[in-house]
Amino acid sequence: MNTVRGFKDIIYPESFKISEIERISREVFEIFNYKEIRIPTVEYQELFIKSTGETTDIVEKEMYKFEDASKRILALRPEGTPGVARAYINNNLNIKGENTKYFYIGNMFRAERPQAGRFREFEQIGVEYIGTNSAFSDAEVIIMLDTILKKIGIKSYQIEINSIGCFECRKKYREVLIENLKKLELCDLCKQRIERNPLRVLDCKIDKEKFSSIPSIHLCGNCQDHHKTLKELLTKSNVDYKENKLLVRGLDYYTRTVFEFKTAELGSQDAIAAGGRYDDLIKSMGGPNSPSVGWAMGAERILMLCEKENISFKNKPLCFVITADQKYSEYAFELLSSLRNSGIKSDFSSFHQSLKSQMRSANSNGARYALIIGEEEFISNTVTIKDLSTGEQSKKEKDNLIKELLKII
Ligand code: ATP
Ligand code: MG
Repeated sequence: MNTVRGFKDIIYPESFKISEIERISREVFEIFNYKEIRIPTVEYQELFIKSTGETTDIVEKEMYKFEDASKRILALRPEGTPGVARAYINNNLNIKGENTKYFYIGNMFRAERPQAGRFREFEQIGVEYIGTNSAFSDAEVIIMLDTILKKIGIKSYQIEINSIGCFECRKKYREVLIENLKKLELCDLCKQRIERNPLRVLDCKIDKEKFSSIPSIHLCGNCQDHHKTLKELLTKSNVDYKENKLLVRGLDYYTRTVFEFKTAELGSQDAIAAGGRYDDLIKSMGGPNSPSVGWAMGAERILMLCEKENISFKNKPLCFVITADQKYSEYAFELLSSLRNSGIKSDFSSFHQSLKSQMRSANSNGARYALIIGEEEFISNTVTIKDLSTGEQSKKEKDNLIKELLKII
């Protein structure tokens, strides 16, 4: 039996690298005071139609939907924001008085054509800052994403931002857009979308080179101010960004700010993370007036970029315990336990193997130190410690050894 097309196993070391990406993200979320939210994988299909939008690629072409035994029409979540918005409303999160800033880590499902960096089940790490319309919150979420990527060590990305205005700005832009789009030779889907959802046309992957003549949106005074403040905040925070007047993103609920973190390293799967402001979504779903902003990043694409940039994460033990003779196995095993009880990452292979083959294991597991127990060490309650990168070797009292190792970590 094989995996279903577009689905994959994630095995060590990739599994470890993805959890490192999650761990670093969690660290940053904690520093910024974002709280975890866990939402269901399955929702009513209706939720995504009404929020992500009926004429978006995600809903129109990519959604996994099915009818359950009770004839409910359900969908595997293609993205996180609609579920978080629903949870915010259902759980009255607005009345608690504390900041409503959430992060989620979870798998999403989209039936798109599988290729490198494009899967049918993939992981998104995302955030939603709900309940404020200030440009400071846009700046915060963008800075937070930039901080995560920098902490991971990724360098080859550019940030693109744009403002697609509020409902009123877009109402006026719609006519301009339709008129100009009609002059172009576009793909079949774009042709259908010109009247239904002209802004969506600008996100088309097939026609994307054809829009340079399209005038950009004229923003109202408030939207202009919002965009200007955001740009000033980013500049002051040393976030390097570029304006892209044609950036609209593929989801219907965005208002004002939209942004994408792009890379030239992954071919046409160039978006590693993306997001924007959604001031009307929660209200339109029957919730309180809760202007919000958020983003999601694709964990697999981040991982691919790490590989391209040779960022290494490996789950390496600091110490590898080795016996010169299996007589000392129990003593060695006790040492291993004390190391682990002190929080020192340690491992061993087989105490009955030769010293040489245990040393080989220590090297291939990437350990930094080999801790060797032979007769002398056993008698004097000491350990020989060998630095595997320099070859330096010395003998230490067992208790002192642990204290010194703790200093290193
Ligand atoms: P793309 O333009 O590549 O289709 P998107 O605009 O559909 O991306 P979003 O809905 O904004 O993507 O999702 C946020 C992030 O999730 C993307 O930037 C990307 O890193 C990741 N992502 C989206 N779809 C997939 C997929 N099918 N496989 C892997 N990662 C994905
Ligand atoms: Mg897509």
